[in-house]
Amino acid sequence: MKITRIQKLTESLINKIAAGEVVESPASVVKELLENSLDSGAERLVLEIKDGGRELIRLSDDGCGIHAEDAPLLFERYASSKLAGEDDLFGITTMGFRGEALSSIAAVSDIEVVTRRAESETACKLRKRPDSPLRTEECVRNSGTTVTVRELFHNTPARRKFLKSETSEQMKITGVMTAISAAHPSTAFRYIIDGKEKLNLPVALSTEGRLRQLFGADLANSLLFGEQEGETYQVRVHFSHLDYTRNNRSAQYFFVNHRPIESRALEQGIRLGYRDLLPPGRFPAAFVYIDINPDEIDVNVHPTKKEIRFSDDQTLMRAVARCITDGFRKLSVERRPASLENIPFSSGTILSDSSETKAAGQPSSLASESETVGLFDSTPVPSSGSLFRNRDETVSEMPRQHLLIPYFQIHNTYLLSQIKNGIILIDQHVAHERILYERALKNIAENEQPVTQQLLFPVTLELSPLQIDRFDAFEGHFGRTGFSLRRFSGTTVVVDGIPAGLKDCRVEQVVGDILGALEAPDPAAVHLRFARSFACHAALKAGTPLLIEEINALVDQLFQCENPYTCPHGRPIVIRIPLDEIARRFMR
Ligand code: ADP
Ligand code: MG
Repeated sequence: MKITRIQKLTESLINKIAAGEVVESPASVVKELLENSLDSGAERLVLEIKDGGRELIRLSDDGCGIHAEDAPLLFERYASSKLAGEDDLFGITTMGFRGEALSSIAAVSDIEVVTRRAESETACKLRKRPDSPLRTEECVRNSGTTVTVRELFHNTPARRKFLKSETSEQMKITGVMTAISAAHPSTAFRYIIDGKEKLNLPVALSTEGRLRQLFGADLANSLLFGEQEGETYQVRVHFSHLDYTRNNRSAQYFFVNHRPIESRALEQGIRLGYRDLLPPGRFPAAFVYIDINPDEIDVNVHPTKKEIRFSDDQTLMRAVARCITDGFRKLSVERRPASLENIPFSSGTILSDSSETKAAGQPSSLASESETVGLFDSTPVPSSGSLFRNRDETVSEMPRQHLLIPYFQIHNTYLLSQIKNGIILIDQHVAHERILYERALKNIAENEQPVTQQLLFPVTLELSPLQIDRFDAFEGHFGRTGFSLRRFSGTTVVVDGIPAGLKDCRVEQVVGDILGALEAPDPAAVHLRFARSFACHAALKAGTPLLIEEINALVDQLFQCENPYTCPHGRPIVIRIPLDEIARRFMR
């Protein structure tokens, strides 16, 4: 290798190197320009691109404009109007602050800025090309700023070579535009590609409104909402119901103080919030908006600020998860009939008008919330008590309920009933699985005293050494879900009580199956895993005939669940077949 003498890099080389960090692709130029316009207080923005941003990127805004006297500094590195002193660095409220964007862009393109402040009579045009002096002239413009970037990377052929196809650069730009406009619902955006208008987003009155403009009715109709507040933060999450999922995270967005960011921790929060509601490989749509005291974050850890550091990301992660679980809980408590009408089926729509959501034939006296919820009440079953009583006892003791909506068991496997706009089918096994699962989780988490049904004849189980290990690890979990069992000797375990509500329970098999399904305990997921295998193996099976009271109790308890729609493995519990579908099959 040739050794030469140390020398200082030229200003032009420094700028090109710095530009490499900030301006990776046309999309990063777009991001920086949009951020500058938003910082300038603009209410309307128009973005125009040509040839995936290579030929042209132009952004016009109606913001505060730039002082003509500041012109010489505009393309200087580390020149910014947003940081006055060092203290400001730890309380940043603007999108930009490093003063590097325009200088970096100017180092690798032909850039022109036309700008006017409201108080100034004339506008000012500034043009800068790499390695040539700044040119300024007076011109005419309304107040605001237009930045035009042409021939990006024309003087850095290596970088230009790395650009992807026009479509893929364009998609990246569209991605930036989408995220930033989702973060600023009250700003109007227009987006023009090669002379054609691609997006026109008028000012939206709410975040939902903006999400609807951007993502369309299918996704927007599926969105639920939850929020959480702490001393220094407020988290709002718009997230999709189970009928809307994707096979990747492309519909998950995170905003911190209106800045789109990427965050592993917050992604994890979403995953936790949905727990086991979705089958593996499916991802919900989720839009997480965090407003946080700027002291609690550090935006200055990444040159393009796409990642930021939180002083406490665990708390925020949990808050995101709670927004989602609470959102689901509210839905199943407050709007049970509404949600019943909207069981995920092709593209389900959530009806918000409660008058529309009442089931057919429902007397008007059932208007109040609690009574509406009671639509599916048939027998008052204590929540932790037994679901299924002894057959004779049930028939003799329980008065026949007047049922508003009858359910029929078909093929000893499914429950069939009528709803306002069609029919529903419930899978009895997964329904019971969901009930047992939620109850077990609750019992374990809250350390509640479960109801145990004593066995007349205790059952002795002979376990394998592996099963014994698992038994030792999970003994407490068995106890807290209502099993009464103890180690007798070596590998023998005696069971003398089982959770109330298990029908025709074959004790050896259920306990054996649970132990078989539990892998080496992983402390984080241990409760979930236990509850899941317990529910799966203890739930009543398909092919089991049920009495009408048992059917009613099952349905009633199902709709008291937090999520009555999917089993712990993500399979659907309830299927809705709309009337129009039936009519279509009959060619009516
Ligand atoms: P930063 O945004 O980090 O301050 P930039 O290089 O992006 O640095 O911009 C430099 C300065 O130019 C900003 O601080 C701001 O004063 C001014 N500026 C850039 N774009 C606009 C705009 N669209 N409207 C008003 N001022 C702008
Ligand atoms: Mg900036």
